[in-house]
Amino acid sequence: MKIRWNRVLILLAVVFVILLGVVMLLPREEEKEKVYLESYVGKSQSEMEQYATEKKITLETEEQYNSTIPEGQIISQEPNQNTELEEGMKVKIVVSKGKIPDTVYQEEKVNELGRVPIMMYHGIIDKPSSETAYTGGNVDKDGYNRTAEAFRQDLEFYYKNGYRMIRLHDYIKGDINVPLGKSPIILTFDDGREDNFKVLGVDENGELQIDPNCAVGVLEEMKAKYPDFGVTATFFVNSGLFQQKEYNEKILKWLVDHGYDVGNHTTTHPDFTKISNAKALESVGKIYQQLDQIIPGKYVPIVALPFGSPYKKTHENFGVIMEGTYEGYHYKTEAALRVGWEADYSPFSTNFDPTFLKRIRAYDNNGKEFDIQMAFQLIENTKYISDGDPNTIVVPQGNETKINNLYQKEIISYKNK
Ligand SMILES: [Zn+2]
Repeated sequence: MKIRWNRVLILLAVVFVILLGVVMLLPREEEKEKVYLESYVGKSQSEMEQYATEKKITLETEEQYNSTIPEGQIISQEPNQNTELEEGMKVKIVVSKGKIPDTVYQEEKVNELGRVPIMMYHGIIDKPSSETAYTGGNVDKDGYNRTAEAFRQDLEFYYKNGYRMIRLHDYIKGDINVPLGKSPIILTFDDGREDNFKVLGVDENGELQIDPNCAVGVLEEMKAKYPDFGVTATFFVNSGLFQQKEYNEKILKWLVDHGYDVGNHTTTHPDFTKISNAKALESVGKIYQQLDQIIPGKYVPIVALPFGSPYKKTHENFGVIMEGTYEGYHYKTEAALRVGWEADYSPFSTNFDPTFLKRIRAYDNNGKEFDIQMAFQLIENTKYISDGDPNTIVVPQGNETKINNLYQKEIISYKNK
């Protein structure tokens, strides 16, 4: 039989058109339109409550004093917009209670001109305090190194006494964000010791496994135990970084990615009063250069002075500690830390000098010779106590003239009882 190709083609075309029609007519799965959560930040609490009822959202409400946001207005919302709305989802809102009344300032003894302790640590040694020959978990005569057990106790002491950690760099910038009635504390570690961040290995995901009894191990434990502690610290390194060739770079990156800071403790830890100006320049500049290569823009331009030297800002080497150009590389230091014995000033005080900050040696000496207990006892009535708002400086009346308002914050003074 002779095949009539034109007919076959027409037939195929007809079949194709019919099939296409059938496919197009098939009931398609209804495309669900995604609905997103709306942001109620800046709107009123009652509007949010109405929205929550409509959308069947469970609201968790927290109230907070706020000197700039009117009472009843939403300060923050979590999650905020761009989150898919689901029935029964939980949304946390923080609502303003308005301005803090004087009675609250009085009760909490708010004083944002008060003293701020900057703690100086070195080694954290993994052994029980009962196995050291010295007082209260000191590992050496001068208490420069502490056992992990003693370090845990120090941290518990700070937390229970109302201290919350802030970053050293934030302190220098006058950015103190701790809740109402709480006091800021700063932790620093010198010498880039292996026991500050000891790596045990790397897991299958490439994550560093950190010794739970090294400084960062203990800090991470506290971060989990007290989420409102604000756990952070600044580590001051020399050219050996954390003494772990294989992991040094990873450690630096891990630290800055996890809310810690890294600063400059000079290349070889010299006594600045015993070296030439050129050596001093190299000692500071080279570390900045090294940090810039590994964590560009993420380290803090702060120098912890080895041995706290030079002890005077008038020393001829002080200039190159603060600013210099080493082999064409320019650096500028924002703050320098001494080895001190008492708490430093509020960053809003006329006495505040970030280029020569005092630190408290974190050690135990039965409450004598400026150990932790004594240093905290000394500031019991003069410590910095926050109003919970980083945008204001709150002081008892009569202290206004002691404020250096570098950061143009709102000043509030209240009547003392
Ligand atoms: Zn040192």
